[in-house]
Amino acid sequence: MSDRLIRARCKSCGGEMNYRPDKPNALTCDSCGATEVLKVGSDQVVERDFREALKTGSAPKGMGVETHDFKCKGCGATTMTDASVSSIECSFCGTPIVKPDTYAQNLIQPTGLVPFKVDKRQAQQAFGDWLGQGWFLPSDLSKIAKLSKLDGVYVPYWTFDAKTHSHWTADAGYYYYVEVEYTDAQGQKQKRQERRVRWVPVSGQYHDFFDDVLIPASTGVKIENARKIEPFTLKELVNFEPKYLLGWRSEAYAVDPETGFSRAEKIMDEAIRDACAKMIPGDTYRDLNVNTRKYDITFKHILLPVWIAAYKYGEKTFQVLVNGQTGKIGGEKPISWIKVALTVLVVIVVVVVAYMVFKKP
Ligand SMILES: [Zn+2]
Ligand SMILES: [Zn+2]
Repeated sequence: MSDRLIRARCKSCGGEMNYRPDKPNALTCDSCGATEVLKVGSDQVVERDFREALKTGSAPKGMGVETHDFKCKGCGATTMTDASVSSIECSFCGTPIVKPDTYAQNLIQPTGLVPFKVDKRQAQQAFGDWLGQGWFLPSDLSKIAKLSKLDGVYVPYWTFDAKTHSHWTADAGYYYYVEVEYTDAQGQKQKRQERRVRWVPVSGQYHDFFDDVLIPASTGVKIENARKIEPFTLKELVNFEPKYLLGWRSEAYAVDPETGFSRAEKIMDEAIRDACAKMIPGDTYRDLNVNTRKYDITFKHILLPVWIAAYKYGEKTFQVLVNGQTGKIGGEKPISWIKVALTVLVVIVVVVVAYMVFKKP
C-alpha cells in the first residue's frame, strides 16, 4: 500500500502499520502481524454551532498531517493520500492523476469517522454477486467483476441537527353533497348527488427536532448511488484519528457547509410540510403555507467508509458502492438492449398467440 496519509512504523520489525477491517481498533504490521492498539473514544464527536463556526471560522482545519491532494479532471473529486505519493488513479472514475497539490489543509477537519468493518474480499464478493443479479445484464458482465478496481475510500459527509418551530395556515376542506338536476340523453329530467367542498381557514403550530440529517459532501460519489447504500449506523462514530486512514484513501469535501446545510434544510422542510399537512382537519386541504424558524443548528463533518468500484463496460463508466460498515451495495449496471428487445418480442408473441387462441370466432 503506497497511498496513505501518514506513516506508522512497526516497533518490532520496522514494517508498515495499517488499519485493517478484520482487526478493528488497532494497527497491524504488514510484515510481522504485530498490532498496536488504537485509543478509541467518541467523546470528541460533538456537534458545533453552525452559524458560530461559519462566522468565526473557529472549526479546526486540515487532516492533522501533510497530505497530497489529487484533483481529478474527470469527475472533480479530490483524493487525499500521504505526501509521498506522486500519482494515483482516481477511485471514482479511474482517471490517472499525476500532479498533486495541497489545498485540503484549509478544509474543516472531520470530528469523527466510522472505521471500515467490511474488508476488500467481502466487498469484492458482494460486488461479484450483485453483478450477476438481473435479467437485462449483458452476459459477459460477470467477467468484469474480476477486472474491476476496488478502492476503500473514506467519503466526506455533513450531518446537521436543528430544532424547528413552524406556524402553518391552510384552508381545510369538508366534503358535502348536493342534489343536482340534469337532463339525460332522452330529454328526461334526472337527479344526482354531486360533491362540494366547504373551505374553512385553519392554522396551527408544529415543533420538531432533527437529529443527524446526513448530507454527502462528496463529488466523486454520485448522490443517487450514495443514497442506495444508506443507512450508516452513526452510533459507531469514533473520534477522528488520522491513524485509521493508514492504508486507505480519503476524499476532500466538495460540498461546502453552507451548501450542505441548504440541502439539509430542504429535507427538513419537506418533512415539516408533511407533518403540518397531517395536522389539517377535514377531508382535504389547499393553500398550505408553512413558516419555519430553525434554531440551535449544529453540524459535524464526518468520514464514512465506502468501497468504490468504477468499471468500464463498452465506452461507459459505471460506479458501484459498497457500504464499508454494513456491506450494503448499490450502483449502476449496464443494460443489454438485445436482451430487452428479445424480451419485448417474446411478450408480444405471447400476447398475440393468447389472442389467437382465446378469440371467439
Ligand atoms: Zn512488524
Ligand atoms: Zn475522478
